[in-house]
Amino acid sequence: MKRRTFIKKSAVTGFSIGLGAMGLLTASCRESYPFDLVLKGALILDGSGNEGIRADVAIKDGKIAALGKLKDASARRSVDLSGLVLAPGFIDVHTHSESKLLVNPKAESKIRQGVTTEILGQDGDSFHPEEFSSEFQKYENAGIAVNIASTVGQGTIRKVVMGMTDRAATPAEIAKMRSLAGVALRQGALGISSGLEYTPGGFASTQEITELCKVMQGSQGLYATHMRNEDDKLVEAVTEAVAIARGANIGLHISHLKCQGRRNWHKLPEVFALIAAFQRADGSVTMDRYPYVAYSTGLSSLMPLWSREGGTGKFIERLKSPETETRIKQATLKKIALLGSWDSVMITSVNLEKNKSMQGKTVARIVGESKQDAYEFVRSLIIEEENQVSMVGFGMNEDNTKQILAHPFCMPASDGSALATYGPLNQGNPHPRSYGTFPRVLGKYVREEKIVSLPEMIRKMTSLPATRFSLAGRGHIAEGFMADLVAFDPEKVRDKATYSQPHQYPEGIEWVIVNGDVVVEHSEHSGKLPGRVLRGSVEAVV
Ligand SMILES: [Zn+2]
Repeated sequence: MKRRTFIKKSAVTGFSIGLGAMGLLTASCRESYPFDLVLKGALILDGSGNEGIRADVAIKDGKIAALGKLKDASARRSVDLSGLVLAPGFIDVHTHSESKLLVNPKAESKIRQGVTTEILGQDGDSFHPEEFSSEFQKYENAGIAVNIASTVGQGTIRKVVMGMTDRAATPAEIAKMRSLAGVALRQGALGISSGLEYTPGGFASTQEITELCKVMQGSQGLYATHMRNEDDKLVEAVTEAVAIARGANIGLHISHLKCQGRRNWHKLPEVFALIAAFQRADGSVTMDRYPYVAYSTGLSSLMPLWSREGGTGKFIERLKSPETETRIKQATLKKIALLGSWDSVMITSVNLEKNKSMQGKTVARIVGESKQDAYEFVRSLIIEEENQVSMVGFGMNEDNTKQILAHPFCMPASDGSALATYGPLNQGNPHPRSYGTFPRVLGKYVREEKIVSLPEMIRKMTSLPATRFSLAGRGHIAEGFMADLVAFDPEKVRDKATYSQPHQYPEGIEWVIVNGDVVVEHSEHSGKLPGRVLRGSVEAVV
Protein backbone atom coordinates (compact mmCIF):
# COMPACT_ATOMS: atom_id res chain seq x y z
CA MET A 1 0.00 0.00 0.00
CA LYS A 2 1.26 3.47 -0.85
CA ARG A 3 1.88 5.51 2.26
CA ARG A 4 -0.61 8.21 1.37
CA THR A 5 -3.37 5.69 0.75
CA PHE A 6 -2.57 3.97 4.02
CA ILE A 7 -2.81 7.16 6.00
CA LYS A 8 -6.03 8.16 4.31
CA LYS A 9 -7.49 4.78 4.96
CA SER A 10 -6.42 4.61 8.60
CA ALA A 11 -7.70 8.10 9.26
CA VAL A 12 -11.06 7.22 7.82
CA THR A 13 -11.42 3.81 9.41
CA GLY A 14 -9.81 4.78 12.68
CA PHE A 15 -7.14 2.03 12.65
CA SER A 16 -4.72 2.24 15.48
CA ILE A 17 -1.44 3.16 13.87
CA GLY A 18 2.25 2.70 14.54
CA LEU A 19 4.48 5.45 15.95
CA GLY A 20 6.14 5.95 12.60
CA ALA A 21 3.00 7.29 11.02
CA MET A 22 2.09 9.51 13.96
CA GLY A 23 3.99 12.53 12.71
CA LEU A 24 2.34 12.32 9.33
CA LEU A 25 -1.04 12.23 10.89
CA THR A 26 -0.64 15.29 13.06
CA ALA A 27 -2.47 17.54 10.60
CA SER A 28 -5.58 15.41 10.47
CA CYS A 29 -5.57 14.83 14.23
CA ARG A 30 -5.19 18.52 15.12
CA GLU A 31 -8.92 19.12 15.05
CA SER A 32 -9.57 16.56 17.71
CA TYR A 33 -7.53 18.30 20.43
CA PRO A 34 -9.37 20.96 22.38
CA PHE A 35 -6.05 22.79 23.07
CA ASP A 36 -2.80 23.32 21.18
CA LEU A 37 -0.63 23.59 24.27
CA VAL A 38 -1.13 23.16 28.00
CA LEU A 39 1.39 24.62 30.48
CA LYS A 40 1.16 22.78 33.76
CA GLY A 41 2.13 23.40 37.35
CA ALA A 42 3.70 26.89 37.25
CA LEU A 43 3.11 29.63 39.79
CA ILE A 44 1.13 32.15 37.77
CA LEU A 45 1.74 35.86 38.17
CA ASP A 46 -0.99 37.17 35.89
CA GLY A 47 0.29 40.74 35.44
CA SER A 48 -2.26 42.35 37.78
CA GLY A 49 0.22 42.66 40.65
CA ASN A 50 -1.72 40.09 42.71
CA GLU A 51 -0.01 37.22 44.51
CA GLY A 52 0.62 34.12 42.44
CA ILE A 53 -1.72 31.18 42.04
CA ARG A 54 -0.76 27.65 41.06
CA ALA A 55 -2.72 26.76 37.93
CA ASP A 56 -2.47 25.32 34.44
CA VAL A 57 -2.83 27.43 31.32
CA ALA A 58 -4.27 26.13 28.06
CA ILE A 59 -3.65 27.76 24.71
CA LYS A 60 -5.68 27.50 21.51
CA ASP A 61 -5.16 29.44 18.26
CA GLY A 62 -2.60 31.78 19.84
CA LYS A 63 -4.84 32.78 22.74
CA ILE A 64 -5.23 31.76 26.36
CA ALA A 65 -8.25 29.46 26.20
CA ALA A 66 -8.51 28.18 29.78
CA LEU A 67 -6.95 28.70 33.17
CA GLY A 68 -7.26 26.47 36.23
CA LYS A 69 -6.87 22.79 37.07
CA LEU A 70 -6.40 21.24 33.64
CA LYS A 71 -4.59 18.06 34.62
CA ASP A 72 -6.67 15.89 32.31
CA ALA A 73 -7.04 18.36 29.46
CA SER A 74 -6.06 16.86 26.17
CA ALA A 75 -3.69 18.96 24.10
CA ARG A 76 -1.40 18.56 21.15
CA ARG A 77 1.45 19.30 23.52
CA SER A 78 1.73 19.65 27.24
CA VAL A 79 4.68 21.03 29.18
CA ASP A 80 5.47 20.69 32.86
CA LEU A 81 6.54 24.03 34.37
CA SER A 82 6.73 22.98 38.04
CA GLY A 83 9.10 25.19 39.99
CA LEU A 84 8.83 28.05 37.51
CA VAL A 85 6.93 31.32 37.51
CA LEU A 86 4.68 31.88 34.48
CA ALA A 87 4.05 35.54 33.61
CA PRO A 88 2.80 37.52 30.62
CA GLY A 89 5.64 38.18 28.16
CA PHE A 90 7.63 41.30 28.99
CA ILE A 91 6.95 44.44 26.97
CA ASP A 92 10.04 46.51 26.17
CA VAL A 93 8.70 50.02 25.54
CA HIS A 94 11.91 51.77 24.47
CA THR A 95 13.98 49.88 21.95
CA HIS A 96 16.13 50.47 18.89
CA SER A 97 15.79 47.14 17.08
CA GLU A 98 14.49 48.49 13.74
CA SER A 99 17.36 47.43 11.48
CA LYS A 100 18.51 44.60 13.76
CA LEU A 101 15.30 42.60 13.41
CA LEU A 102 15.74 42.58 9.64
CA VAL A 103 19.35 41.37 10.02
CA ASN A 104 18.38 38.62 12.45
CA PRO A 105 14.63 38.10 12.90
CA LYS A 106 15.16 35.70 15.83
CA ALA A 107 15.53 38.69 18.22
CA GLU A 108 17.91 36.54 20.27
CA SER A 109 19.00 38.97 22.99
CA LYS A 110 15.43 40.10 23.60
CA ILE A 111 13.40 36.91 23.41
CA ARG A 112 15.90 35.19 25.74
CA GLN A 113 15.11 37.87 28.33
CA GLY A 114 11.42 37.00 28.12
CA VAL A 115 10.58 40.02 25.95
CA THR A 116 7.65 39.28 23.62
CA THR A 117 6.93 42.82 22.36
CA GLU A 118 9.27 45.67 21.42
CA ILE A 119 8.17 49.26 20.86
CA LEU A 120 10.28 50.95 18.18
CA GLY A 121 10.47 54.52 16.85
CA GLN A 122 12.02 56.02 19.98
CA ASP A 123 13.98 59.20 20.73
CA GLY A 124 12.29 61.13 17.93
CA ASP A 125 13.67 58.80 15.29
CA SER A 126 11.34 56.45 13.41
CA PHE A 127 10.28 55.11 10.04
CA HIS A 128 9.34 57.82 7.54
CA PRO A 129 5.90 58.99 8.66
CA GLU A 130 4.31 58.18 5.31
CA GLU A 131 5.80 54.69 5.11
CA PHE A 132 4.67 52.95 8.29
CA SER A 133 2.46 50.50 6.37
CA SER A 134 5.19 49.44 3.98
CA GLU A 135 7.82 49.26 6.75
CA PHE A 136 5.52 47.11 8.90
CA GLN A 137 4.92 44.91 5.88
CA LYS A 138 8.67 44.21 5.62
CA TYR A 139 8.70 42.65 9.09
CA GLU A 140 5.52 40.71 8.44
CA ASN A 141 6.95 39.33 5.21
CA ALA A 142 10.31 38.42 6.75
CA GLY A 143 8.86 36.99 9.98
CA ILE A 144 10.05 38.02 13.46
CA ALA A 145 10.31 36.24 16.80
CA VAL A 146 8.83 39.11 18.84
CA ASN A 147 5.84 41.39 18.30
CA ILE A 148 6.64 44.97 17.33
CA ALA A 149 4.87 48.30 17.51
CA SER A 150 6.19 51.81 16.86
CA THR A 151 5.75 55.47 17.68
CA VAL A 152 6.47 58.14 15.05
CA GLY A 153 9.46 60.41 15.67
CA GLN A 154 9.12 64.18 15.99
CA GLY A 155 12.75 64.46 14.79
CA THR A 156 11.99 62.38 11.71
CA ILE A 157 8.89 64.44 10.96
CA ARG A 158 10.80 67.73 11.35
CA LYS A 159 13.57 66.48 9.11
CA VAL A 160 11.10 65.58 6.36
CA VAL A 161 9.57 69.07 6.50
CA MET A 162 12.57 71.30 7.32
CA GLY A 163 15.75 69.29 6.82
CA MET A 164 18.49 69.76 9.42
CA THR A 165 18.08 73.52 9.88
CA ASP A 166 18.13 75.21 13.28
CA ARG A 167 15.30 77.76 13.14
CA ALA A 168 11.73 78.09 14.30
CA ALA A 169 9.11 76.34 12.18
CA THR A 170 6.56 78.55 10.39
CA PRO A 171 2.83 77.91 10.95
CA ALA A 172 2.67 76.31 7.51
CA GLU A 173 5.55 73.97 8.39
CA ILE A 174 3.87 73.01 11.66
CA ALA A 175 0.65 72.25 9.79
CA LYS A 176 2.64 70.02 7.45
CA MET A 177 4.27 68.21 10.39
CA ARG A 178 0.87 67.59 11.94
CA SER A 179 -0.50 66.16 8.78
CA LEU A 180 2.52 63.83 8.47
CA ALA A 181 2.04 62.68 12.08
CA GLY A 182 -1.61 62.05 11.22
CA VAL A 183 -0.56 59.82 8.33
CA ALA A 184 1.71 57.75 10.59
CA LEU A 185 -0.97 57.46 13.30
CA ARG A 186 -3.50 56.28 10.76
CA GLN A 187 -1.01 53.65 9.61
CA GLY A 188 -0.67 52.33 13.16
CA ALA A 189 1.84 54.49 15.10
CA LEU A 190 1.06 54.40 18.85
CA GLY A 191 2.02 58.00 19.56
CA ILE A 192 4.76 60.58 18.96
CA SER A 193 8.29 60.27 20.35
CA SER A 194 10.91 62.98 20.69
CA GLY A 195 14.67 63.06 21.28
CA LEU A 196 15.34 66.67 22.21
CA GLU A 197 19.05 66.20 22.92
CA TYR A 198 19.49 65.19 19.29
CA THR A 199 19.35 67.04 15.98
CA PRO A 200 17.10 68.06 14.33
CA GLY A 201 14.37 67.33 16.92
CA GLY A 202 16.11 69.50 19.52
CA PHE A 203 15.77 72.57 17.29
CA ALA A 204 12.02 72.59 17.98
CA SER A 205 10.53 74.89 20.62
CA THR A 206 8.13 73.75 23.35
CA GLN A 207 5.30 75.42 21.46
CA GLU A 208 6.16 73.72 18.18
CA ILE A 209 6.11 70.27 19.81
CA THR A 210 2.85 71.07 21.62
CA GLU A 211 1.22 72.10 18.35
CA LEU A 212 2.47 68.90 16.72
CA CYS A 213 1.17 66.73 19.58
CA LYS A 214 -2.28 68.30 19.34
CA VAL A 215 -2.80 65.93 16.43
CA MET A 216 -3.49 63.33 19.17
CA GLN A 217 -5.56 65.47 21.55
CA GLY A 218 -8.20 63.65 23.51
CA SER A 219 -7.05 60.26 22.15
CA GLN A 220 -5.14 57.46 23.88
CA GLY A 221 -2.03 58.41 21.86
CA LEU A 222 0.87 59.56 23.98
CA TYR A 223 3.94 61.77 23.84
CA ALA A 224 7.05 59.70 24.69
CA THR A 225 10.07 61.89 25.22
CA HIS A 226 13.81 61.66 25.59
CA MET A 227 13.77 65.06 27.25
CA ARG A 228 15.74 68.15 26.27
CA ASN A 229 18.11 67.63 29.17
CA GLU A 230 18.78 64.93 31.76
CA ASP A 231 21.36 66.70 33.93
CA ASP A 232 21.71 70.37 34.99
CA LYS A 233 18.40 71.35 33.34
CA LEU A 234 16.53 68.18 34.31
CA VAL A 235 13.79 69.91 36.31
CA GLU A 236 13.24 72.44 33.48
CA ALA A 237 13.08 69.54 31.00
CA VAL A 238 10.45 67.65 33.04
CA THR A 239 8.49 70.90 33.35
CA GLU A 240 8.61 71.30 29.55
CA ALA A 241 7.51 67.68 28.97
CA VAL A 242 4.54 68.15 31.30
CA ALA A 243 3.67 71.46 29.60
CA ILE A 244 3.62 69.77 26.18
CA ALA A 245 1.36 66.94 27.38
CA ARG A 246 -0.93 69.35 29.21
CA GLY A 247 -1.05 71.76 26.26
CA ALA A 248 -1.92 68.98 23.84
CA ASN A 249 -4.25 67.17 26.28
CA ILE A 250 -2.51 63.81 25.95
CA GLY A 251 -0.61 61.37 28.13
CA LEU A 252 3.10 61.79 28.83
CA HIS A 253 5.71 59.05 28.90
CA ILE A 254 9.24 60.01 30.00
CA SER A 255 11.88 57.82 28.39
CA HIS A 256 14.84 56.53 30.45
CA LEU A 257 14.26 58.87 33.42
CA LYS A 258 17.51 59.66 35.21
CA CYS A 259 19.38 62.36 37.16
CA GLN A 260 22.59 62.59 35.22
CA GLY A 261 25.79 63.82 36.88
CA ARG A 262 26.70 63.76 40.57
CA ARG A 263 25.65 67.36 41.20
CA ASN A 264 22.11 66.53 40.00
CA TRP A 265 21.48 63.36 41.95
CA HIS A 266 19.54 65.21 44.64
CA LYS A 267 16.90 66.36 42.12
CA LEU A 268 14.89 63.13 42.03
CA PRO A 269 12.33 64.07 44.73
CA GLU A 270 11.60 67.30 42.84
CA VAL A 271 11.10 65.35 39.61
CA PHE A 272 8.76 62.88 41.35
CA ALA A 273 6.82 65.83 42.82
CA LEU A 274 6.33 67.39 39.36
CA ILE A 275 5.08 64.06 38.07
CA ALA A 276 2.72 63.59 41.02
CA ALA A 277 1.33 67.12 40.62
CA PHE A 278 0.51 66.45 36.96
CA GLN A 279 -1.14 63.12 37.88
CA ARG A 280 -3.27 64.91 40.47
CA ALA A 281 -4.31 67.50 37.90
CA ASP A 282 -5.83 64.66 35.86
CA GLY A 283 -2.88 64.30 33.59
CA SER A 284 -1.23 60.96 33.17
CA VAL A 285 2.47 60.26 33.34
CA THR A 286 4.46 57.06 33.05
CA MET A 287 8.15 56.54 32.57
CA ASP A 288 10.71 53.91 31.80
CA ARG A 289 14.22 53.18 32.94
CA TYR A 290 17.03 50.69 32.27
CA PRO A 291 18.54 48.99 35.35
CA TYR A 292 22.08 50.35 35.00
CA VAL A 293 23.95 53.43 36.25
CA ALA A 294 25.73 54.13 32.98
CA TYR A 295 24.10 55.49 29.82
CA SER A 296 25.05 54.68 26.26
CA THR A 297 25.30 57.13 23.38
CA GLY A 298 27.54 58.48 20.63
CA LEU A 299 30.88 59.87 21.80
CA SER A 300 29.93 63.10 20.02
CA SER A 301 27.22 63.71 22.64
CA LEU A 302 30.03 65.05 24.85
CA MET A 303 30.22 67.92 22.35
CA PRO A 304 27.60 70.73 22.30
CA LEU A 305 24.50 70.45 20.12
CA TRP A 306 25.35 73.51 17.97
CA SER A 307 28.66 71.94 16.96
CA ARG A 308 26.81 68.94 15.52
CA GLU A 309 24.26 70.91 13.51
CA GLY A 310 24.16 70.08 9.80
CA GLY A 311 25.47 66.52 9.98
CA THR A 312 28.81 64.73 10.31
CA GLY A 313 30.69 66.70 7.63
CA LYS A 314 29.97 70.07 9.24
CA PHE A 315 30.62 68.69 12.72
CA ILE A 316 34.06 67.48 11.73
CA GLU A 317 34.83 70.79 10.01
CA ARG A 318 34.04 72.59 13.28
CA LEU A 319 36.23 70.16 15.25
CA LYS A 320 39.10 71.02 12.90
CA SER A 321 38.53 74.78 12.74
CA PRO A 322 40.59 76.70 15.34
CA GLU A 323 37.78 79.26 15.95
CA THR A 324 35.06 76.78 16.80
CA GLU A 325 37.28 74.10 18.28
CA THR A 326 38.13 76.14 21.42
CA ARG A 327 34.44 76.65 22.20
CA ILE A 328 33.75 72.96 21.63
CA LYS A 329 36.58 72.03 23.98
CA GLN A 330 35.28 74.30 26.76
CA ALA A 331 31.78 72.82 26.52
CA THR A 332 33.13 69.27 26.41
CA LEU A 333 35.26 69.76 29.51
CA LYS A 334 32.19 71.13 31.31
CA LYS A 335 30.33 67.95 30.44
CA ILE A 336 33.22 65.86 31.76
CA ALA A 337 33.16 67.86 35.01
CA LEU A 338 29.47 66.98 35.26
CA LEU A 339 30.19 63.28 34.81
CA GLY A 340 33.09 63.41 37.27
CA SER A 341 36.17 62.65 35.15
CA TRP A 342 37.38 60.90 31.99
CA ASP A 343 37.20 57.70 34.06
CA SER A 344 33.44 57.95 33.62
CA VAL A 345 33.62 57.67 29.79
CA MET A 346 34.10 54.19 28.28
CA ILE A 347 34.55 53.69 24.54
CA THR A 348 32.25 50.85 23.51
CA SER A 349 32.44 50.67 19.74
CA VAL A 350 34.51 52.03 16.86
CA ASN A 351 34.52 51.32 13.14
CA LEU A 352 38.21 51.10 12.23
CA GLU A 353 40.01 47.83 12.86
CA LYS A 354 43.13 49.55 14.24
CA ASN A 355 41.11 51.19 17.04
CA LYS A 356 39.22 48.07 18.13
CA SER A 357 41.49 47.49 21.13
CA MET A 358 40.00 50.66 22.66
CA GLN A 359 36.58 49.02 22.98
CA GLY A 360 35.69 48.36 26.59
CA LYS A 361 38.30 50.81 27.95
CA THR A 362 37.74 54.18 29.60
CA VAL A 363 39.19 57.32 27.99
CA ALA A 364 41.29 57.83 31.15
CA ARG A 365 42.81 54.38 30.74
CA ILE A 366 43.50 54.77 27.01
CA VAL A 367 45.24 58.13 27.36
CA GLY A 368 47.01 56.93 30.50
CA GLU A 369 48.70 54.32 28.33
CA SER A 370 49.67 56.82 25.61
CA LYS A 371 50.21 59.97 27.73
CA GLN A 372 47.94 61.90 25.37
CA ASP A 373 45.64 64.77 26.37
CA ALA A 374 42.18 63.26 26.91
CA TYR A 375 40.15 65.90 25.05
CA GLU A 376 42.63 65.88 22.15
CA PHE A 377 42.34 62.09 21.99
CA VAL A 378 38.54 62.20 21.83
CA ARG A 379 38.57 64.97 19.20
CA SER A 380 40.97 63.11 16.89
CA LEU A 381 39.16 59.79 17.41
CA ILE A 382 35.85 61.33 16.28
CA ILE A 383 37.55 62.88 13.22
CA GLU A 384 39.38 59.67 12.34
CA GLU A 385 36.30 57.47 12.81
CA GLU A 386 34.03 59.97 11.02
CA ASN A 387 31.94 60.10 14.17
CA GLN A 388 31.25 56.35 14.29
CA VAL A 389 32.19 55.99 17.97
CA SER A 390 29.95 54.89 20.85
CA MET A 391 30.47 55.33 24.57
CA VAL A 392 28.92 54.60 27.94
CA GLY A 393 28.98 57.30 30.61
CA PHE A 394 28.91 56.39 34.28
CA GLY A 395 26.86 59.31 35.55
CA MET A 396 23.94 57.91 37.53
CA ASN A 397 23.31 57.09 41.15
CA GLU A 398 22.43 53.60 42.37
CA ASP A 399 19.92 54.71 44.97
CA ASN A 400 18.08 56.91 42.44
CA THR A 401 18.02 54.00 40.02
CA LYS A 402 16.28 51.83 42.62
CA GLN A 403 13.75 54.52 43.45
CA ILE A 404 12.93 55.09 39.78
CA LEU A 405 12.63 51.35 39.02
CA ALA A 406 10.37 50.93 42.07
CA HIS A 407 8.05 53.83 41.17
CA PRO A 408 4.53 52.48 40.52
CA PHE A 409 4.33 54.28 37.15
CA CYS A 410 7.77 53.23 35.94
CA MET A 411 8.31 50.26 33.65
CA PRO A 412 11.72 48.73 33.02
CA ALA A 413 12.81 49.18 29.38
CA SER A 414 16.08 48.35 27.69
CA ASP A 415 16.80 51.38 25.46
CA GLY A 416 18.74 48.65 23.62
CA SER A 417 18.26 46.46 20.58
CA ALA A 418 17.83 42.84 19.60
CA LEU A 419 21.40 41.53 19.25
CA ALA A 420 22.93 38.05 19.07
CA THR A 421 26.06 36.26 20.26
CA TYR A 422 26.88 35.26 16.66
CA GLY A 423 26.81 36.77 13.18
CA PRO A 424 26.66 40.45 12.25
CA LEU A 425 24.89 41.48 15.48
CA ASN A 426 27.77 40.23 17.62
CA GLN A 427 29.87 43.36 17.18
CA GLY A 428 31.60 45.93 19.36
CA ASN A 429 30.79 46.58 22.99
CA PRO A 430 27.15 47.61 23.09
CA HIS A 431 25.54 48.58 26.38
CA PRO A 432 24.78 45.33 28.29
CA ARG A 433 21.14 46.37 28.66
CA SER A 434 20.42 44.90 25.20
CA TYR A 435 21.01 41.47 26.78
CA GLY A 436 20.35 41.91 30.48
CA THR A 437 17.60 44.42 31.31
CA PHE A 438 14.66 42.24 32.37
CA PRO A 439 16.62 39.40 34.08
CA ARG A 440 18.72 42.03 35.86
CA VAL A 441 15.62 43.71 37.26
CA LEU A 442 14.26 40.32 38.40
CA GLY A 443 17.58 39.06 39.80
CA LYS A 444 19.44 42.06 41.17
CA TYR A 445 16.64 44.50 41.95
CA VAL A 446 13.78 42.18 42.99
CA ARG A 447 15.39 39.00 44.40
CA GLU A 448 18.50 40.59 45.90
CA GLU A 449 17.66 44.24 46.61
CA LYS A 450 13.90 43.65 47.10
CA ILE A 451 12.96 47.09 45.77
CA VAL A 452 9.38 45.84 45.15
CA SER A 453 7.66 42.44 45.31
CA LEU A 454 7.93 40.05 42.37
CA PRO A 455 4.19 40.29 41.46
CA GLU A 456 4.45 44.10 41.47
CA MET A 457 7.51 44.11 39.20
CA ILE A 458 5.82 41.67 36.83
CA ARG A 459 2.88 44.11 36.66
CA LYS A 460 5.31 46.89 35.76
CA MET A 461 6.80 44.73 32.98
CA THR A 462 3.48 43.57 31.50
CA SER A 463 0.02 45.06 32.16
CA LEU A 464 1.36 48.56 32.89
CA PRO A 465 3.08 48.95 29.49
CA ALA A 466 0.27 47.10 27.67
CA THR A 467 -2.33 49.48 29.09
CA ARG A 468 -0.18 52.57 28.66
CA PHE A 469 0.66 51.89 25.03
CA SER A 470 -2.85 50.54 24.24
CA LEU A 471 -1.69 47.06 23.25
CA ALA A 472 -5.13 45.48 23.40
CA GLY A 473 -5.38 41.86 24.51
CA ARG A 474 -1.82 41.67 25.87
CA GLY A 475 -0.07 42.00 29.21
CA HIS A 476 -2.33 39.71 31.28
CA ILE A 477 -2.75 36.01 31.79
CA ALA A 478 -6.50 35.67 31.43
CA GLU A 479 -8.90 33.88 29.13
CA GLY A 480 -9.10 35.53 25.74
CA PHE A 481 -5.74 37.31 26.05
CA MET A 482 -3.01 36.58 23.52
CA ALA A 483 -0.64 33.83 24.66
CA ASP A 484 2.53 35.92 25.05
CA LEU A 485 4.15 34.20 28.03
CA VAL A 486 7.44 33.70 29.84
CA ALA A 487 8.36 30.99 32.33
CA PHE A 488 11.39 31.67 34.50
CA ASP A 489 13.11 30.34 37.59
CA PRO A 490 12.74 33.08 40.23
CA GLU A 491 15.72 31.74 42.19
CA LYS A 492 18.09 31.55 39.24
CA VAL A 493 17.11 34.36 36.88
CA ARG A 494 20.00 36.78 36.38
CA ASP A 495 21.78 38.86 33.75
CA LYS A 496 25.28 37.92 32.63
CA ALA A 497 26.12 40.75 30.19
CA THR A 498 28.74 43.21 31.46
CA TYR A 499 30.15 46.50 30.09
CA SER A 500 33.31 44.76 28.92
CA GLN A 501 31.64 41.48 27.83
CA PRO A 502 28.12 42.41 26.88
CA HIS A 503 27.35 39.66 24.36
CA GLN A 504 26.02 37.14 26.89
CA TYR A 505 22.50 35.80 27.26
CA PRO A 506 20.94 35.75 30.72
CA GLU A 507 20.16 32.70 32.85
CA GLY A 508 16.91 31.36 34.24
CA ILE A 509 14.51 32.37 31.43
CA GLU A 510 13.38 28.90 30.36
CA TRP A 511 10.30 29.19 28.15
CA VAL A 512 9.06 32.05 26.02
CA ILE A 513 5.83 31.83 24.04
CA VAL A 514 4.72 34.40 21.46
CA ASN A 515 1.16 34.33 20.08
CA GLY A 516 0.89 30.73 21.30
CA ASP A 517 4.08 29.46 19.64
CA VAL A 518 7.07 28.28 21.66
CA VAL A 519 10.09 30.44 20.74
CA VAL A 520 12.33 29.62 23.70
CA GLU A 521 12.32 26.07 25.01
CA HIS A 522 14.60 25.02 27.88
CA SER A 523 16.45 28.35 27.37
CA GLU A 524 17.15 27.58 23.69
CA HIS A 525 15.70 29.33 20.62
CA SER A 526 13.34 27.13 18.62
CA GLY A 527 13.81 29.19 15.45
CA LYS A 528 10.09 30.02 15.33
CA LEU A 529 9.06 33.49 14.16
CA PRO A 530 5.47 33.99 15.36
CA GLY A 531 5.78 37.75 16.12
CA ARG A 532 3.25 40.19 14.71
CA VAL A 533 3.05 43.91 14.06
CA LEU A 534 0.77 45.55 16.63
CA ARG A 535 -0.86 48.59 15.04
CA GLY A 536 -2.28 51.36 17.17
CA SER A 537 -5.64 53.00 16.59
CA VAL A 538 -5.03 56.60 17.65
CA GLU A 539 -7.67 58.96 16.30
CA ALA A 540 -5.69 61.77 14.58
CA VAL A 541 -7.02 65.35 14.58
CA VAL A 542 -5.23 67.07 11.71
ZN1 LIG B 1 16.92 58.15 24.40
